[in-house]
Amino acid sequence: APLPADGPARAQCPYCGVGCGLEMKPPAAPTAAGEAVWTARGDRHHPSSLGQVCVKGATVGETLHRNRLTTPLYRPRTDQPFEPIGWERAFALLEERVRRTLAAQGPEGIAMYGSGQFLTEDYYVANKLIKGALGSNNFDANSRLCMSSAVSGYMRSFGSDGPPCCYDDLDQADTVLLIGTNTAECHPVLFQRLLKRKRKQKQDLQIVVVDPRATATSDAADLHLAIRPGTDLALLHGLGHLLLEQGGVNRAYVEASTEGFEALAELWSGWTPETVSLFCGIEEQQLRQLAARWAASTGVVSLWSMGVNQSVEGTATVAGIINLHLVSGQLGRPGAGPFSLTGQPNAMGGREAGGLARLLPGYRSVTDAGHRAEIERHWGLGPGTIAPTSGLTVWEQIEAMERGALGLWWVAATNPLVSLPWLDRVRAAVARCPMVVLSEAYAGTETAAIAHLVLPAAQWSEKAGVMTNSERRVTLCPAFRAPPGEARPDWAIFAELGRRLGFEEQFRFGSSAEVFAEFAAITAGRLCDLSGLSHGLLQEHGPQQWPFPVGTPPGGGAPRLHTSGRFPTASGRARLISEQPMGLGEPPDGDYPLVLTVGRYLEQWHTMTRTGQVERLLRPHGQPLLEVHPADARDHGLVDGGQAEVSSRRGAVTARVLVTDRIRQGTVFLPMHWGAAQEQACEANRLMHALGCPISQQPELKAAAVTVRPC
Ligand code: SF4
Repeated sequence: APLPADGPARAQCPYCGVGCGLEMKPPAAPTAAGEAVWTARGDRHHPSSLGQVCVKGATVGETLHRNRLTTPLYRPRTDQPFEPIGWERAFALLEERVRRTLAAQGPEGIAMYGSGQFLTEDYYVANKLIKGALGSNNFDANSRLCMSSAVSGYMRSFGSDGPPCCYDDLDQADTVLLIGTNTAECHPVLFQRLLKRKRKQKQDLQIVVVDPRATATSDAADLHLAIRPGTDLALLHGLGHLLLEQGGVNRAYVEASTEGFEALAELWSGWTPETVSLFCGIEEQQLRQLAARWAASTGVVSLWSMGVNQSVEGTATVAGIINLHLVSGQLGRPGAGPFSLTGQPNAMGGREAGGLARLLPGYRSVTDAGHRAEIERHWGLGPGTIAPTSGLTVWEQIEAMERGALGLWWVAATNPLVSLPWLDRVRAAVARCPMVVLSEAYAGTETAAIAHLVLPAAQWSEKAGVMTNSERRVTLCPAFRAPPGEARPDWAIFAELGRRLGFEEQFRFGSSAEVFAEFAAITAGRLCDLSGLSHGLLQEHGPQQWPFPVGTPPGGGAPRLHTSGRFPTASGRARLISEQPMGLGEPPDGDYPLVLTVGRYLEQWHTMTRTGQVERLLRPHGQPLLEVHPADARDHGLVDGGQAEVSSRRGAVTARVLVTDRIRQGTVFLPMHWGAAQEQACEANRLMHALGCPISQQPELKAAAVTVRPC
């Protein structure tokens, strides 16, 4: 890709789903270590962040050079050292493995696990290769661990995926409910926007936080409900009960725009404040306070992220949030609505491009015959090429490897050997797969340890493409640095393999702009219509929100969805969903009496492949700390600053103890960042179980039963 002329390059930050705009300034001179470090600062022209940036975005320039993979590497067995090989040999190995697996096991023997770090173009070509050319729907992405409950929730309630709100809604709401989200640390710039408004307009904004743990987010709250882990849905039903009782129902909206109200009212009637108080472990008065505030509010926005989604009742809880907004008419207008905060920078773009095992591009489904036919036509493939059933989600891919049913597992731009649950089982399963391919920018990740073939990937800053942030805003991220060595963009690797497999026409892309043009056209007429966008338009006019159909003027995308009160369901009405809480997948018991919950630190990003390199980011939290309530510390013989072993039914890890009353009694906390390759290794996800939401298949990474002891 051509490098830009001198001057700052504008791009979306490659970390969290807030999707702030960055201005990247070229290095004046190499550092003492000889590195050409680009400097990042907030882009004042980016409408989503208006020049704000957090410490991760501000230091991203320091992470782009070190520890990079520069050439394909191969080893026949994982107990052998890697040997450098050229791309020609790498493609020959890939092609041979694909053909052999297709012959022996059929398309189901091939699976890919991609990433919300992909650009949309990477996602699109990967899907076209796996679901189109190879006929396997086994393409899933790490969004499965992040947002799939939100996707399922929107689809069930509204008839389509698509967050209905925008960031401006936070400036206009008078109540913001943050449930299952430590926004201050995980989506910092958005939280700072909220905080700034709170400081200026104290009386006009109430912040309510629902989280078993006191965090930097709850520190800013007017009301903090420290519920027992796994009781979010009961809390939401209890809130509904009080809205019914206190006249908080918008009858006109319910009658015109929803269905299922009677069943929901019946369910809510059983969740009295007394019942909810006992179930959730909070004061009845706190629930009443929240209900009174909601009923009196002119605008309520509910923000949520992993604390809701990573649960066996993730989709049901998302529906529980949406139910409240629908019944009270808090939706489709400024300052009101249910708003999922995306974890990864481009999980949204992935959803648009069909980047989960059930999806096809343009918010289409593999199980819909009409959708398959549309995509087959668009891709120039014969009728019936795309398989009619959902592909394997990531945990189903692990189970398939356990059965010896996968001949090729291709992991790209993600590090599942830290981020998946039950890591010992994952390692054992993957060992049964004869060929594990890893496309990665960095050397030495935990996942490289289980790979046979490693492909050096060009990363953000080295390849051009788009990302979509949580408010549906699409930003062009240009290539402003050259990739190191032989590293190539992911989309170009997938396209090259497609051509070598005989799909010349389908993968004849000369640039990522051409990839985007093909993808954008496929979205015409869908809710996520981006057909009016192009790399050229985004370059000239800056980031744009979708829907953006052909003919939309720059800046004319829709800030909100569902403003008419009509929804893309068969009846045109949103569905009110009535489901009883199930509780935790693995509740505590006599042997494992505590609930372990995991989360993130402000300065670190997921599995630390980038942020772990920056000294400045390691200073505030140089090691993982086990947070324990004083009463639990006393009961288990732990002391502040001592070492503890944390064990579950699946394994044990050790960590330094932080005794604090900021964690709810009966619950302990570990950060999820430190994998086996880190000096301070503490594989928190090794302890987690693999039960997931039956609808979204999102694993319950937020809670597992554990015990602790000094060591
Ligand atoms: Fe990047 Fe998120 Fe920080 Fe914004 S808030 S600079 S998107 S990490």
